[in-house]
Parts: sequence; C-alpha cells; structure tokens
Amino acid sequence: RELPGDPRSDAIPREVLHACYTKVSPSAPVDNPKMVAWSQSVADILDLDHKEFERPDFPQLFSGASHLVGSLPYAQCYGGHQFGVWAGQLGDGRAITLGEVINSRGERWELQLKGCGKTPYSRFADGLAVLRSSIREFLCSEAMHGLGIPTTRALCLVETGKSVVRDMFYDGNSKEEPGAIVCRVAPSFLRFGSYQIHATRDKEDLEIIRNLADYTIRHHYPHLENIKKSEAWAVEVAERTAYLIARWQGVGFTHGVMNTDNMSVLGLTIDYGPFGFLDAFDPSFTPNTTDLPGKRYCFANQPDVGLWNIAQFTSPLTAAELISKDEANYVMERYGTKFMDEYQSIMTRKLGLPKYNKQLIGKLLNNLAVDKVDYTNFFRLLSNVKADRDIPEKELLVPLKAALLDIGKERKEAWISWVQTYIEELVSSGIPDEERKAAMNSVNPKYILRNYLCQTAIDAADQGDYDEVRRLLKVMEHPYDEQPGMEKYARLPPAWAYRPGVLYKL
Ligand code: AMP
Ligand code: MG
Ligand code: MG
Repeated sequence: RELPGDPRSDAIPREVLHACYTKVSPSAPVDNPKMVAWSQSVADILDLDHKEFERPDFPQLFSGASHLVGSLPYAQCYGGHQFGVWAGQLGDGRAITLGEVINSRGERWELQLKGCGKTPYSRFADGLAVLRSSIREFLCSEAMHGLGIPTTRALCLVETGKSVVRDMFYDGNSKEEPGAIVCRVAPSFLRFGSYQIHATRDKEDLEIIRNLADYTIRHHYPHLENIKKSEAWAVEVAERTAYLIARWQGVGFTHGVMNTDNMSVLGLTIDYGPFGFLDAFDPSFTPNTTDLPGKRYCFANQPDVGLWNIAQFTSPLTAAELISKDEANYVMERYGTKFMDEYQSIMTRKLGLPKYNKQLIGKLLNNLAVDKVDYTNFFRLLSNVKADRDIPEKELLVPLKAALLDIGKERKEAWISWVQTYIEELVSSGIPDEERKAAMNSVNPKYILRNYLCQTAIDAADQGDYDEVRRLLKVMEHPYDEQPGMEKYARLPPAWAYRPGVLYKL
C-alpha cells in the first residue's frame, strides 16, 4: 500500500507531458464497504473462485481501501474530442488500473477501479462515482456482454459507505449521494484519445505514438505483427468500430457520449454514462440531456459519428508517419464498407430473411418510427408471423398485437401491407417457421436493460436493498432466452418512467 504522501501517489491535477500514464493509488474514502453485486462470468475469466466473494476483505480490495498484492496502480493519460471539439487532456480522472491478470488460458485482462479517487487527470472533479451511475455501468457492461456485443466487463460493484457530493444542475443545489466503485475488466482500456493526445504536443511526442502503437499491436493485435502492420492495424480498428456500432443499431443501444476519449481501440463499448436503449423506435433519440440541442450522439447518428471518430483516430497515426494520407482515407473507406455489410446482415437476420431487402427494412423502420413502436418487443414478436399467404387480412396483425396496441385505424393499412410483403418474402425464403423463429430469437433479445429497469434497481439499492440489481444482472445475462417467470422484465416502461427527473436521471 502506498501511503499518503508517497511521491508515487501524487494526484495533483496537472498536465502530464511526454507520458502515457501516472502511478497513482486509489484514495477514495471508504467506511465499511459492501459488495453490491459481482459477475460470475467475469470471476471465471479471472480464474477467481466464487467463494472468494464471501471473503470479508473483498469489499476493501475492490474499493481500493486495501492494496492488492502485486499491483502497481496507475492512471492513463488521454485526451479527446468532446462534441466535435478538441478538449485537450481529459483523463483518466477517476479510473485507476490495478494491473493485469494473465489467466489460465494465457489471456491478458486489465483490472480498473472506477471512482476510487483523484488522479493527476481529475481536473476540477473529485475522482469519485455515485451508486446510481455505478449500478448503470455495472449492469450495462454485463447486459451488453449477454447480448453478445463487444464491451468492457464489470467484475464487481462496491458501495463505499461514504457519501459523495454532487451539484444538481437543475436546481443549483448540491446533494449527498452514496459513493460506489466498479471494478472494470478489459484486455485494454486504451482509447482513440490515448493516441490523439500525443499529436497535440511536442514533435518528440510523436515517438510516443509510435511506441504506443507498437505496444498495442504487440499485445492486442499480435496477428498483425509481421505484415504491413500500421495500416492493417488502423483498418482493423476501423472495422471493429464499424462492427460494434452496427451491433448497437441492431439492439437499439444509444451510447450517448461518443467522444473520442470514449472510443476503445479494441472496438469495445466503453464508458457507460448516459446510455439508453430505445423503447419506442425513434431515430432522433438521445439519452444525453446535455446533447439535446444538436443531438450529435442520437441513435441514428451513431454510424456517422463512428466514421468521424475514425478520422480523428487516423490523424495522430499520419502525424507520426505510421500511415500515409492515402492509407488513412482507405481506413475510413473500410469503416463505411464494414458498417454497411454488418448493418445489412444484422437487419436481415432480425427479419429472419436469407438476403437483404432494403425496401422492406426501410418501410418497416419508417412504420416503427411513425407509430412509436417498441423496438425490442416488435422484433421479438415478429418471429411469430407465419409463412402463410392464406391468413385472412383481419388476422395478419394478430401475432404483433402486443407491440401495435396503440396504432390508429388509419395506420392499420400500412402495417397490413407491410406484413403482406413480409409474408411473401418468408414464403419465397422456404425457411420453415420454427427454424426461422429460433434463428430470429437468437438475434432479437427479449430482455434489454431499459432505463426504467435500471432506475428500479437504483431506487432499491438507495434503500440498501441490492436484490434487484442482482436479479436484473441474472436476467440480462441471458437476454435471448424466454426465462419463464421473468416476463415482467420485458414490459414497456410504466408511466412514471416518463416523468421529468426520472427519464435519464443520470
Ligand atoms: P466522460 O464524458 O464520462 O467520458 O468524462 C470525461 C472525462 O472526465 C473522463 O475522462 C474522466 O476522467 C473525467 N471525469 C468524469 N467524472 C469525473 C469525476 N467525478 N472525477 C474526476 N474525473 C472525472
Ligand atoms: Mg470517458
Ligand atoms: Mg463517463
């Protein structure tokens, strides 16, 4: 344990020059910390015996209050473009890496505590995290993994027993809230901003970009070591990013803050802040209340923002002469191609069809938007439509009834016409109904981490009851399964979920 005053745990906010990280120890105040929840599958990744979580010292270890033997904690230095504007050095202001574990399969996993105290990158903030946002990050990390979408993981969530003061932007008052710390786990937390920052400083810092790129390829893209590696690497980063965003679109996930400091170089979903899943389909949906005017990061803009971010990522690589301008253009082109391929393939699978049908999908998305239909429940129900031309017109919408309850008489025709065309496609596909249903249900989740579900778990945890967080975790670990008895977790948001202050109270 590095003691306070140890020069290595110096957390004075400052510009850290010519370096990728600073050694700094966790310092969040902790008083009788409690284990709120932990993920069995992440424990398995780390070869951690589940019984270990009964150990009384675990909440101490995973709040940073006691030192993990063998760890040499540090905080990463990165910058980023926030809402399209270069913002300089940003972080990491509240996540401290404890170290890396190499598991029995030889995989390298980095462990990070988020909310465990100030670092040199904390700027004006306190380096801490509150329980509600930590619950959101913990649950969504694991929910995304359950959906099969690349993401940083969360091993556990500890309530520190100490409160954190937060200014309430809506009434100007400050409020004490329970503090918490999430232990995040990923092969690496490097972001686009980790490379960008060194291109904005001295010319000698371009050497850091080359070193960091080497490091990244050696540890995380080893299959590229012996080919024309910088370009191949940049292409793969672009393709992974395109794949990731296509997957987000497929499940209605809106990240909310796609700044370049929140873009993983491994193509993982990273930094769960004001994220939200679509309930009713709305291309302009943004869960980020600070992004309402421009809606830069709304659902439908995510693919374009991904491209913009890739362009920013290639910029330090060209500055460091790792790739040429032409190669950078090629990287961006690859992003576009990969995104379209993946997106079309995902939407095709969501419809259970053998090949992409642009018109059919376009009409459907338009119908969903006009009638504000629930994105998740609609696709889940769609697998009940039968490949049968003889179904009488008045029965055509029966399988979709639960998702189309509110549509007016005048909209019925549009839906009937869409279903008729859809059935034609199903018939000509020749895929048996049961086979198609099983395939569709493996890409159209029944359960997603809707905002109101998070909020319910947060409200209970605020009262000291962690059971709902734990139940929600279990449900979201298997989002494609029917899970008898858990159907209430697939329900639409109740009326209270739309009240001001509840909707994306982050
Ligand atoms: P975000 O928009 O969540 O990506 O945050 C931007 C940067 O602000 C991050 O890189 C964090 O390091 C930093 N940050 C956010 N919240 C805090 C906090 N409570 N204390 C210190 N730094 C913070
Ligand atoms: Mg961030
Ligand atoms: Mg954040």
